[in-house]
Amino acid sequence: MKETVYALQKVGDKDEYHLFTCSITSEGTILEKKSICNQIDYDENHVVLSYLREEMARVKCAKGGRSVCHNCVSYLYI
Ligand SMILES: [Zn+2]
Repeated sequence: MKETVYALQKVGDKDEYHLFTCSITSEGTILEKKSICNQIDYDENHVVLSYLREEMARVKCAKGGRSVCHNCVSYLYI
């Protein structure tokens, strides 16, 4: 069984966020080193929300006035 969860990372000083996928498998947790849009490298020091399930990730991205990268967000709606 495999489950995919998401981490939301703030990038730089701007109010800009990107999503990273993380797969939880029987072997352990595998975090992608690149953001979903492939533009940003993972940096645990800047992760603001981690391991959100898909539904929760959608809600967090849609609310709160955060500007989340459109390419990253669109992945949640595929
Ligand atoms: Zn992005």
